Amino acid sequence: MKSLSTITESEHLFERAKRVSPGGVHSPVRAFRGVGGVPRFIISADGSNFTDVDGNAYIDFCMSWGPLIFGHKNPEIREAVIKALERGWSYGAAEPYSLELAELITSSIPWVEKIRFVNSGTEAVMAALRVARGATGRSKILKFDGCYHGHVDSMRGRAGSGLAEMSSPASAGVSKSVAGETIVVPLDDPSALKLAIEKHGKELAAVIIEAIPANNGLLLQKPDFLPLAVELARKVGALIILDEVITGFRVSFGGVAEITGIKPDLVTYGKVIGGGFPVGAYGGKKELMDLVAPSGPVYQAGTLSANPVAMSAGIATLKKLIKEKPYASFEKKTAWLENKIGQSATKAGVSAMAQRFGSIFWLVLGKVNTADGTVRSQIQIPSSQKDQYAQVFHSLLDSGIYMAPSGFEVSFLSTAHTDTDLEKLTDSIDKIFSKRIFSK
Ligand code: PMP
Repeated sequence: MKSLSTITESEHLFERAKRVSPGGVHSPVRAFRGVGGVPRFIISADGSNFTDVDGNAYIDFCMSWGPLIFGHKNPEIREAVIKALERGWSYGAAEPYSLELAELITSSIPWVEKIRFVNSGTEAVMAALRVARGATGRSKILKFDGCYHGHVDSMRGRAGSGLAEMSSPASAGVSKSVAGETIVVPLDDPSALKLAIEKHGKELAAVIIEAIPANNGLLLQKPDFLPLAVELARKVGALIILDEVITGFRVSFGGVAEITGIKPDLVTYGKVIGGGFPVGAYGGKKELMDLVAPSGPVYQAGTLSANPVAMSAGIATLKKLIKEKPYASFEKKTAWLENKIGQSATKAGVSAMAQRFGSIFWLVLGKVNTADGTVRSQIQIPSSQKDQYAQVFHSLLDSGIYMAPSGFEVSFLSTAHTDTDLEKLTDSIDKIFSKRIFSK
């Protein structure tokens, strides 16, 4: 047993938290089950850094799981939030803040003709699925193995994120009838997709896909996979729901839809859209969105939806993105990371690399047995990923770097990360690889 003086404040708080909350946390991956050890209790943050209750500072590459594209406590966003807060923080009535954010989005993203704000990505997906069922009169949804769409009951099959490290790929508590409404198809497998759509086409309300699957590592799809899914869905009259909760406003302002030219019927947003406050949104074609209450028969509501403080953070974030367009710079930075990490792996003779897209990156640790060396589906993730990532994660944590606390989660850059932050990351990874703790 540790003596009292060596028990950290984080350990102490975690013991207390486990007594009052499941696993001591309010979202599973925060508990460090995927990497072992005690989660650090974070008490404050600024720019690219945050500090735990024991006074340790870390360069944060998790960035609240993606929302903080301008880093922690960005001064412009902070000012907008404080201004809104001083006027009041919840009205439960029509207000101009959500109007401004809705106009900002609909005027810059043509396939989002109307938008509805909710409080999380999960809620956005839940509502989009309901609209799809309401519009088509069909019940089944096709999703992809390893894509995460929040904790919606029907999306709990083979979903990734926190489930990627659990023994069962689905969740207890989801009824068979609900699970039976979802057809799960592997990523990177056009023939399986064709077969499933041929078989279930007439019953399919929608095909939902993460615009870039980023909840089971970063599973980069071949460029023709997403267009194929869209084409096949359209042939059978199913809607396309593009889940851009991670990618929306992060990989480009209009997300993957903008980059690829794909026009989804419905799109879901979260994370960056709220600048770090609890916001989600779903939007799309006018005739679909007009099915939502009170215009139409698809019911969806929320006591705290379009909270004015959260809306103000979203407005400030999106306006800053439009003004500063950080996307090309992110692309350069993660290309540099990928290159450096690749060089360190080659030099040390370990099988490791980084997969990346824009400001999103993922460390792949172990031998990849695919033809082009890219991991594109869950089953292609090396079996060593979990254990080796845990070792890398803790070595990095010891040197003041906080990555996503699971080998199946991606890490994020913000504009607050400096070149020195990136060099510290690659230097630390270089040192870890050079110890050759991993077998080839
Ligand atoms: N969809 C995707 C693609 C996500 O990555 C997430 C969350 N990581 C969600 C939906 C759910 O969002 P939230 O956690 O805000 O409910």
